Amino acid sequence: MRIIFLGPPAAGKGTQAKMIQDRTGIPLIVMGDILRAAIQKQDEIGKAAETYVKTGALVPDDMIIKIIMRRLTEPDCQQKGFLFDGFPRTIAQAEALDHEMSAQGTKLDAVLYYKIPDEVAIARISGRRTCRKCDAVYHIVNKPSKVPNHCDLCQGELYQRDDDKTEVMQNRLIAYHKKTAALVEYYQQKGILGYIDASQSIEGILQETLRTLNLQ
Ligand code: AMP
Repeated sequence: MRIIFLGPPAAGKGTQAKMIQDRTGIPLIVMGDILRAAIQKQDEIGKAAETYVKTGALVPDDMIIKIIMRRLTEPDCQQKGFLFDGFPRTIAQAEALDHEMSAQGTKLDAVLYYKIPDEVAIARISGRRTCRKCDAVYHIVNKPSKVPNHCDLCQGELYQRDDDKTEVMQNRLIAYHKKTAALVEYYQQKGILGYIDASQSIEGILQETLRTLNLQ
């Protein structure tokens, strides 16, 4: 299947995407993780993307499109499709994807929009903690780790991402409303957009996601 998860930061789409990947084996491509790994390595992409990611601004389209186009040619995507979390974030990115998919003779199966008010997003993000080693995501109230500050999966240390701090988070929401929200209309017009109420519990969101993707 070829799926896109859309929504503001902290809508919970990352958590859902990992659960769908575990159930289906569809390759999960998380643009934020690709960029953070590149920044940690300080490779060419990482150096170029660092300031944008740290301030909550969007990385330029040409860089993002290049990363995605390369990733799409890898065997797992060719065989099993993809589940995108964090891509596309602009109309230009969506158009580049459409163009590439029609060249490959493929098309999107679904785009899910995880809808959540900004206040709920901010409250959620301020409690979010991420594992330094494996990037697993927790929440101090909604999804605490079993041992405080340590990952359940790999025992790595949990930390608060710099861009999850309130000021940067507000910039990310501004970027979302300015550029990414337009994608909702873009995919709605194509008739492939499904709405998910992302203000409910993780389990509730999962059930709605599975129903909407016909995976139940
Ligand atoms: P995320 O973890 O998805 O919120 O992404 C973290 C940051 O990476 C964003 O605030 C942007 O700076 C950058 N980023 C991730 N995906 C994209 C994208 N598709 N286009 C531009 N910038 C992106």
